[in-house]
Amino acid sequence: MPYLREILTEGHPTLRKVAKKVDPAEIADPIFQQLIDDMFATMYDAPGIGLAAPQIAVGKRLFTVDLQDDEKPEAGPRVFINPKFTLWEGEIEAIEGCLSVPGMVGDVTRFSRVVCIALDRRGKKFSVDAGGLFARCLQHEMDHLDGILYIDKAKDLRPARTDEEVAEAEAVAAGAR
Ligand code: ZN
Repeated sequence: MPYLREILTEGHPTLRKVAKKVDPAEIADPIFQQLIDDMFATMYDAPGIGLAAPQIAVGKRLFTVDLQDDEKPEAGPRVFINPKFTLWEGEIEAIEGCLSVPGMVGDVTRFSRVVCIALDRRGKKFSVDAGGLFARCLQHEMDHLDGILYIDKAKDLRPARTDEEVAEAEAVAAGAR
């Protein structure tokens, strides 16, 4: 049974540490599989579209993502273990929020397209070619693995005031829009 983990908020030192690579031999371990299940449960409960392990005090290089967009099945529930970008291009600015910085939003410039390779929960290598919100979310989560928060990069960091911003900050929470 998956259970909800506590999401750390800004100021906690674990959020600022560079996470360690996962030993591929560890992936099949039931404890690691439990971690993945717990991350999905915690992300959906928040709710957010992405969650990185350091956000629940686990200093390992993995994050979960689910854009929950029926038109983008490739951006459905996925775990990225030891992720790496192999291509990045373009530039686009958009609003972002984070579960670890509740109630705030800011505008962040990101690459508009990235290709990301990672291991899945069976330890198999896969690759995704992501644009739009998916690309933004992957970059936001990847930053968490390097101890970087979006507020380090954001312009016009502000409390989420309008209903739209509040909704966005909640929906996007760990991810971005
Ligand atoms: Zn975040």
